[in-house]
Amino acid sequence: MLSSKEVILVLRRRLFSKSLSLSYENSDPLLIVEGRGCYLIDERGHKYLDTRNNVAHVGHSHPHVVQAIQRQVALLNTNTRYLHPTMTRLAERLVRLLPDSLEVVFFCNSGSEANDLALRLARAYAKGSENTIVMDRAYHGHTLGTLQVSPYKYDHGSESIHTNPSHYYKVPCPDTYRGVHRDLVTAGTMYAKYVQEACHHFQSKGEKIRAWIVEGGMSVAGVILPPKGYLSVCAEAVRAAGGLYIADEVQTGFGRLGSCLWAFQHNDPAITPDIVTVGKPFGNGMPLAAIVTTRKVASAFEKCGIEYFKTFGGNPVCAAAGVAVLDVLEKENLQQNALEVGMYLKQQFELLQSTIELIGDVRGSGLFLGVELVRDRSSLEPATAEASFICSILKSKYHILTSIDGQYDNVIVIKPPMVFSKTNAVEFIASFRQAVLLDLPAVDLTKTSFTPT
Ligand code: PMP
Repeated sequence: MLSSKEVILVLRRRLFSKSLSLSYENSDPLLIVEGRGCYLIDERGHKYLDTRNNVAHVGHSHPHVVQAIQRQVALLNTNTRYLHPTMTRLAERLVRLLPDSLEVVFFCNSGSEANDLALRLARAYAKGSENTIVMDRAYHGHTLGTLQVSPYKYDHGSESIHTNPSHYYKVPCPDTYRGVHRDLVTAGTMYAKYVQEACHHFQSKGEKIRAWIVEGGMSVAGVILPPKGYLSVCAEAVRAAGGLYIADEVQTGFGRLGSCLWAFQHNDPAITPDIVTVGKPFGNGMPLAAIVTTRKVASAFEKCGIEYFKTFGGNPVCAAAGVAVLDVLEKENLQQNALEVGMYLKQQFELLQSTIELIGDVRGSGLFLGVELVRDRSSLEPATAEASFICSILKSKYHILTSIDGQYDNVIVIKPPMVFSKTNAVEFIASFRQAVLLDLPAVDLTKTSFTPT
């Protein structure tokens, strides 16, 4: 007789495509039935500390968010063609959190849709140009439009994504640990040169640029924070070439970096994007996303004459969730919590790094941290198998959920709910330490070949 978990697994494999991945698929996938704060609970009542879920921004099942959703769903949920106070209240609250020039809101349901729409707006603004500057290792969504700016996906498959590849110009990810420019003082300027070159490339052909899309903290790339000056120099070059600077805050928005509300402000506080996209944490799990842009960009889009309608975008229930998320963020001072707990966690990882060779780099800000594991600190040979083992043992033995990302799947990416406490951090560090010092030496990992880039 199969357990309910086994039945679900069999059904999942039968009913869904293999391209839909499952966490811990090769060991023991989880059946999660409940979430509370920073914890997820499985069907046997086992609690797991969640260090990877930046969607449950204010904590899993936060009562204030739950109540707001319950109240609204019992009253009304409908499409967005009617006046509704919560939809406009949420737009007002969101605009207030952004620089003054960003004042027009479009609601939608996912980060992919938000970025797709942002690219459409930019195309309208650039009078039909499709020329786009794309960050290597970036991910911006699963629609065809967003996949075209997502080398993280299209570089690893055989599907032909670009109808006209000459419209897409890929520039290096500004990685100061593994990339070609590692001097923190000059890295911003050096990496910006690639974006300036991309602008010249299109300009020399007499063509306009549509956009440059970039995260203020590149998450799936392995927590890469653009070095100082990078965003402002690039934005200036892109604008001079007639294009727009789109800041994707789908992973990093709403205070995750602790230092600021938006990742694009972290190293270049003075620069304002032309379009900001938000998603994941905005609805704390409800499908809520948005783009916020300038009046000028919105007008260029309006002139195209195509109505924007998104059945569920900003519907009363999701909007209620969004307002509740912003309430909690403010009331519980979660940006400050991210700053303080994140700083403590980062310091603790740096302490481990001073004695554990495997920890090559500790980077990031607030509750957006990356711990890159290497087999050799000079060649930077990625410790991919080690990272995978640590992630797996942290789950099975210590009941801690972590995620791995980066170019070589060797970066532990830490982006827990923003209510992650110092106690949670202490537990995480102690378990990580044991996993690396006690459990890892006891296994024989198959050596993999590696060519440094
Ligand atoms: N932008 C970034 C930076 C993302 O990481 C993601 C999802 N991982 C998306 C956009 C797409 O968001 P969604 O899955 O909600 O469509």
